[in-house]
Amino acid sequence: MAKTLPLTGRPPGEVLADLKALHVDDAKWRDGRTFSLVYNAGDEVSQLLKDAYGEFIAENGLSPVAFPSLRRMECEVVSMAAALMHGDDGVAGTMTSGGTESIMMAVKAARDFGRAVRGIERPELLVPASIHPAFDKAAHYFGVRIVHARLGPDFRVDVADVERLLTANTIMVVGSAPPYPHGVIDPIAELAALATKHGVWMHVDACLGGFFLPFAERLGRAVPPWDFRVPGVVSISADLHKYGYAAKGASVVLYRSAAFRRHQFFTWAGWNGGLYASPSFCGTRPGGAIAAAWAVMHHLGEAGYLERARSVLESTDAMKRGIADIPGLKVLGAPHVGVFAFGSDTLNVYELGDAMDARGWKLDRQMDPPALHCMVTPAHAKVRDVFLRDLAECAGALTAGHPAPEGSAAMYGMVGSIGDRSQVNDFLLDFLDGLFERV
Ligand SMILES: *Cc1c(COP(=O)(O)O)cnc(C)c1O
Repeated sequence: MAKTLPLTGRPPGEVLADLKALHVDDAKWRDGRTFSLVYNAGDEVSQLLKDAYGEFIAENGLSPVAFPSLRRMECEVVSMAAALMHGDDGVAGTMTSGGTESIMMAVKAARDFGRAVRGIERPELLVPASIHPAFDKAAHYFGVRIVHARLGPDFRVDVADVERLLTANTIMVVGSAPPYPHGVIDPIAELAALATKHGVWMHVDACLGGFFLPFAERLGRAVPPWDFRVPGVVSISADLHKYGYAAKGASVVLYRSAAFRRHQFFTWAGWNGGLYASPSFCGTRPGGAIAAAWAVMHHLGEAGYLERARSVLESTDAMKRGIADIPGLKVLGAPHVGVFAFGSDTLNVYELGDAMDARGWKLDRQMDPPALHCMVTPAHAKVRDVFLRDLAECAGALTAGHPAPEGSAAMYGMVGSIGDRSQVNDFLLDFLDGLFERV
């Protein structure tokens, strides 16, 4: 029989002990053996996030009037983000629950702007093939047609293809800084120039790079222009809960001016419950996420972010060099920061991923081309040498003809051989049904 609510409760200590025991099969991110999902800046930061989140766990960002504290924190977080991204005082934004919500809000704003200002009734969204699926999700939710432009051989979007696909219905052109799959920043300046020429809204998805690239640049890295310094960039999404090291549930979406942001807002004056005004997708907005983001930015300051960016860049350089030295493996393109992918012309990288799984590493699998993915954080400084040794041993074993342990290679091989990926959708729906079966 499926689980029901217990008739009587138990003391907090007992419940918490059970809760902690549930961690047993979770990804071991503290050991630095996972490469996405968790961005940890150390125990002191984790404790601060818990304390700050706890302090505002009950407060609700839906009503900045009731909670001027949250309003103040949100405005300060947005201001700090805008300044990092070289926006002038006119830049306006809001916090959201994450990259997906930031992206959805920007697409919604561009759609409504397109309708109100340009009279577009059949909106199209023009994105690189490497774009994060949150854009496909936004298009799906908001009745927008999404068009994917192909990548060039350097894994950046092909600007000529974007130009070819532009139509009078294009509400928004997007580039990523950097895209999740290969970490190579799209040619933002060229895309923005093209968008400006055609009077189209340009969005930069900096969910990954927004709180990393500014520090990489200060550390002397060659970072191609991507932020509000580029004329024509209208909006930017940037995740605090990634390289901003905030608690989960925190991102910002920024607009060059409040006039663009207005198309994000939702108001309804016809409700019995009173006047309703909501800045973003969520109704109730957790105060804890806002407070934790505010706290970590004040705790780390520029110096703290620089220190972590330096560590990530050093680990990344060492890992990329080490991977290039392993026979058969190659880093894809010329990734700019701590996210990159590697593939092979001779080995089955999915089998390599399974062999690494067996040694406790969790590397994301990618397709077109087949690749494994690394998202480097400060947690990887202490394990990068072991990682490279394990990778070299696993690659060596495969080259020598030893079979890989059982894993997801067969499934990825099967999916890779299917030309029409929409056929895979039913399989994915079954997968989700299975995941959320009642227990
Ligand atoms: C993570 C990510 C997103 C989506 O962010 P969520 O917080 O997972 O919703 C969008 N774009 C890029 C490039 C990302 O890395």
